[in-house]
Amino acid sequence: MAQSNTLSSETSPTTSQSAVPITVARGDGIGPEIMQATLDILQAAGARLEIQEIEIGEQLYNKGIMSGIEDSSWDSILKTRVFLKAPITTPQGGGVKSLNVTTRKTLGLYANVRPCVSYHPFVRTKHPTMDVVIVRENEEDLYAGIEHRQTDEVYQCLKLISRPGSEKIVRYAFEYAVANNRKKVTCFTKDNIMKFTDGLFHKVFDEVAAEYPQIENEHWIVDIGAAKLADSPEAFDVVVMPNLYGDILSDVAAQIAGSVGLAGSANIGEKAAMFEAIHGSAPRRAGQNLANPSGLLLGAVQMLVHIGQQDVAQSVHNAWLRTLEDGVHTYDIFKEGVSKQKVGTREFAEAVVARVGQLPQQLKAVQYNAPAAKSGAAKPIYTPVKPAKKALKGVDVFVHCAGISPNDLGAKVTALQLENLPLQVISNRGQKVFPQGFAETFCTDHWRCRFVGANDGDITHQDVITLLGRFAAAGLDFIKTEHLCTFDGEKGWTAAQGT
Ligand code: NAD
Repeated sequence: MAQSNTLSSETSPTTSQSAVPITVARGDGIGPEIMQATLDILQAAGARLEIQEIEIGEQLYNKGIMSGIEDSSWDSILKTRVFLKAPITTPQGGGVKSLNVTTRKTLGLYANVRPCVSYHPFVRTKHPTMDVVIVRENEEDLYAGIEHRQTDEVYQCLKLISRPGSEKIVRYAFEYAVANNRKKVTCFTKDNIMKFTDGLFHKVFDEVAAEYPQIENEHWIVDIGAAKLADSPEAFDVVVMPNLYGDILSDVAAQIAGSVGLAGSANIGEKAAMFEAIHGSAPRRAGQNLANPSGLLLGAVQMLVHIGQQDVAQSVHNAWLRTLEDGVHTYDIFKEGVSKQKVGTREFAEAVVARVGQLPQQLKAVQYNAPAAKSGAAKPIYTPVKPAKKALKGVDVFVHCAGISPNDLGAKVTALQLENLPLQVISNRGQKVFPQGFAETFCTDHWRCRFVGANDGDITHQDVITLLGRFAAAGLDFIKTEHLCTFDGEKGWTAAQGT
């Protein structure tokens, strides 16, 4: 059930603005404690918010609501379009889908923005000058969650990358760089291997980068890029990545900056936004007044910028920096010789409240002039894709077949080919095994039989159906097909490894 209350302050620098409705969820584990601390600080700094509270997570799962959220709560989020969310505990297995992933995808929150900043010498880090913002694509890639078990031995997860999805996130990264006076945007992909999916992301990056000549741009293959980021983060500024790499590397970046407990994150969409800490609900620390509220607080600072309360954001952020600098630390960042006072969640919040209006003395004070990059800023966020001239040229038929050699399967499948649709190659986990495979290649029970139209000719859906009929009649268990199409004459498939 949504409840309402209003935070406001007579001394607020934004008293002329009306209160902005937001939805708040206190979450699970340490969530309620760090949310209370965050709200106390926002209130003391004069944030003008009209809060609607909703329940999510464990309480709902325990009631058998496996989505972790009730319909009335969606109503609140859809009305306020701004969601400040504490971490929740996701039960392992049992058909429960992650509420975080559901929320991001339902609301179209395509950009996940995680600033990873070091606070040397007040928080221990090997990278004293690190100041990196990870912009992670949030809706697609392997997180489409489309997975299948296809054979006894093989499971599949589909990696989906779209042109609009790539353009939206890359454009967001450049708009963010412009709005926040950043100098460079780096892209990480693995397009030397995934030439189509990551290749598209990289291509779109190059196209969009050309529209922002004032911002330096570069691309790294993600493996060596990740190594460089972990070793010399000061070489990076804004880094944009597909979903999975961004998920992993934003945690690495936050941790090497000092602690995952210090980083906040914004999930931005065209119509809504969600703000949170990057850490989880830390159930072992719950209810002990131990947790560090900083990650959620910095997520809330991003929220204040998003809703146009830059002055409050600045005041909260600077008071927080001053608190760190004064050595008032929770257990997770406490260090003898550097820290002065070990405090609990509540005392930390009180220390920040006491410093509202103060600036840090050694750490660089933050200044929020412009709103954060918003989707739909100066330019349309993506260009509609023009349909290409598509021609069907062949088909990959995937088969579940155990205890057979590549040559025997090759002979069996060759006998099924159509005159205009001959067998070209059989591969096993992408590696060619027929014709002329290597005896050394390890084979599973999952085979791909590729048929390509004779003399580069077009084929029809009926050809595919006829072919599959022959597979069925021969007792070969086909488990899926993929069409081989050209788009404006360009091949829409990659070659098997080893051809
Ligand atoms: P976690 O981030 O909750 O905690 C890992 C450890 O980090 C904790 O044991 C604690 O020592 C430390 N820690 C984390 N946040 C801290 C803080 N604010 N202050 C002090 N110490 C802190 O990771 P986990 O244990 O892997 O996950 C626990 C639960 O949280 C799981 O159910 C997981 O699914 C969920 N989770 C939720 C979110 C989210 O809601 N956004 C994100 C990640 C994990």
